[in-house]
Amino acid sequence: MAPSILSLPYPRFAALGRQAFLDARGEVKGSGVASELYSRFFRTGQLRPEASGLSASSTALWGSVCTTHSPLLLETVETDAPQEGPGAAKALFRLDDGCRVETVLVPMGTGESGRGTLCLSSQVGCAMGCAFCETGQAGLTRNLEAAEIVAQVFEARFGLGWEFTSLVFMGMGEPLDNLDQVMAALEVLTDPRGFAFAQERITVCTVGVASGIRRLADRGWKRMGLSLSLNAGRNELREGLMPVTRSHPLEAVQAALRDYPQRKNFVLALNYCLLPGINDTVADAQEVAAFATGLGRVLVNLIPYNPGTRPLGRAPSEVEVDTFLGLLKAVGLDAKVRGPKGRSIMAACGQLGTRP
Ligand code: SF4
Repeated sequence: MAPSILSLPYPRFAALGRQAFLDARGEVKGSGVASELYSRFFRTGQLRPEASGLSASSTALWGSVCTTHSPLLLETVETDAPQEGPGAAKALFRLDDGCRVETVLVPMGTGESGRGTLCLSSQVGCAMGCAFCETGQAGLTRNLEAAEIVAQVFEARFGLGWEFTSLVFMGMGEPLDNLDQVMAALEVLTDPRGFAFAQERITVCTVGVASGIRRLADRGWKRMGLSLSLNAGRNELREGLMPVTRSHPLEAVQAALRDYPQRKNFVLALNYCLLPGINDTVADAQEVAAFATGLGRVLVNLIPYNPGTRPLGRAPSEVEVDTFLGLLKAVGLDAKVRGPKGRSIMAACGQLGTRP
């Protein structure tokens, strides 16, 4: 028998998703079984062709063509710092070529038991070189394939048993720098016959790749969340913190965001890593407000800097955080502080790619 598309290893199979099963109908008798197996696989984590009422020979055939395997889980680390609250955890996976990628469970946002957000990586390393980010210091090794992105969700849910209802692309890498694979992964993750994540439950966080924002808009995922890692409202300051600003200046990012189709009740999150002595003045707050003009409803997530292994400076004190929060509100912005979940295990924002 010719090699089936489904006999490819799990990552490829997951990327192709439902279409792979549909394509296989010509190879394996039993129309309808493909869709059933697909749904079961992404909803329960198991293929179990024997549960589909097939003959023994068909069961064996499905079992042979649907071979799968997952990235190897090397370790998980859970936070034990009482001040961070319960639940932040980080998983380290080894991919087929030996590259390592990290996925983080963040118990934030809903305040309801058992609900959390899974923070996904889109690249091994990152080419963006943000000065405050541990991942950025290591550079880019390679893009993740769509299947390797989907596999993080699959393993977190079915391998680790983590409970989460939302996804955010805020792990290692810049998702809009690997947009083809991220979009392919989003197709699988939102497929109603599989994982069925609602678009509202997914957020793509970008440093501001304006062309990528426009491509996402063109795809028409109007209910998908989008957030921008801003960190400075002035090009000169931002270039030093985020080199991507040279190729995508704030004006271009702002224009792309203005054109982004927003659903009713959409709130654009502007993430702002507070670096004491660098981006914490009255003028800095005013520049954030100027950037937000015309972008609809905006929420500034103020993130106290998490010093990594090569720190850019120190973490801000609580007083400094409160002071800048007050400055943001004084210039008319809706803003809140996002706590340093996972700082103790190097799983907090800007710390991925390192060891605890
Ligand atoms: S903050 Fe994000 S985009 Fe910037 S270097 Fe780190 S991983 Fe890359």
